[in-house]
Amino acid sequence: MKWILFLGALIGLSFCGREKFFGDQVFRINVRNGDEISKLSQLVNSDNFKLDVWKAPSTFSRLVDVLVPSVSLQPVKSFLKSQGLEYSVTIGDLQALLDHEDEEMQHNEGQERSGNNFNYGAYHSLEAIYHEMDSIAGDFPDLASRVKIGHSFENRSMYVLKFGTAEGGRRPAVWLNAGIHSREWISVATAIWTARKIASDYGKDPTITSILEKMDIFLLPVANPDGYVYTQSQNRLWRKTRSIYPRSRCVGTDPNRNWNASFAGEGASDNPCSEIYHGPHANSEVEVKSVVDFIQEHGNFKCFIDLHSYSQLLMYPYGYTVKKAPDADELDKVARRAAKALASLSGTTYQVGPTCTTVYPASGSSVDWAYDNGIKYAFTFELRDTGHYGFLLPANQIIPTAEETWLGLKTIMEHVRDNLY
Ligand SMILES: [Zn+2]
Repeated sequence: MKWILFLGALIGLSFCGREKFFGDQVFRINVRNGDEISKLSQLVNSDNFKLDVWKAPSTFSRLVDVLVPSVSLQPVKSFLKSQGLEYSVTIGDLQALLDHEDEEMQHNEGQERSGNNFNYGAYHSLEAIYHEMDSIAGDFPDLASRVKIGHSFENRSMYVLKFGTAEGGRRPAVWLNAGIHSREWISVATAIWTARKIASDYGKDPTITSILEKMDIFLLPVANPDGYVYTQSQNRLWRKTRSIYPRSRCVGTDPNRNWNASFAGEGASDNPCSEIYHGPHANSEVEVKSVVDFIQEHGNFKCFIDLHSYSQLLMYPYGYTVKKAPDADELDKVARRAAKALASLSGTTYQVGPTCTTVYPASGSSVDWAYDNGIKYAFTFELRDTGHYGFLLPANQIIPTAEETWLGLKTIMEHVRDNLY
């Protein structure tokens, strides 16, 4: 009992009910050829081991990151050895990283309460992010407003920040999306930083000023609010929505397999317990449907950017087919320029390419839907890092990540500004 109390005091009470990962590790497995890939899929598809794939192999990296629960450590090691698969341990003590993250968040919350200031170098609760969106709208009433676009399965509001310099009319617009996969916290933190940056640089930085003279920007920092709350209250590594369907024994749908773009095709699962479950039908997730309805109702979006983590990739359609998108050459050129701008700040390298051949086939994704619905400039960012911390990127990397990403985002938006169609 004493031990439990001590632990409670150490990690803060609000995280006490959260799932623990004592003894769990993240392995990095090197798959060198097709034969090894099929051995690996045998391993990860086995129900016995309960593995969670953090990063699949890509054209640029044959390294696969897998979360191995403590009970599976020995059998998985034996399997890897017997099959001659090379591996190393990238995160030896997952729970220690989680505890550290919790402590930092709790400490920051205390600081913010006393100082009444939002710290952009920290991770936040949904409530704090929504509050900060309000503050931005309040600080820049002529430029920014908070708009409710719908609600989540568990009835949480979904808010976007709209940045616009002209009244009325449907100006050409940019959609910035983040947090669709709830454990990818750096995307949420980057998005809210970006919101403040857009507002405070307008009228000072000629690039963002000229972009906003021509276009509106809509920014959705938490595209999966239920999942985000769940990562803070129950399981830090939750990826999906929290929807429940009759006759299904598992909770949640992968909201980035749920869009109406080759729905239920390759790279999505019809198993409700899978991390890439596509859901019962396209747009079944109210979070996805809310965005789809808003964008269609608006009718003049020219650019759609979805922020994810991790792997440091900048991708464009398609994800659902290896076929080249009609605008692939232009998108590739823009993405390469954006990656170069991003790298210019502190040397962070991004790989660029179409989703399907860069990472893996993924049907029903947001950017493919955007592209198929006439939004030509559709891009996915996989932010930092390349696997040292994976989804648990330390808070001291939030601002460096957001700052470099901003250079990439601006490069894309400049191109859209100069190439409105
Ligand atoms: Zn993601």
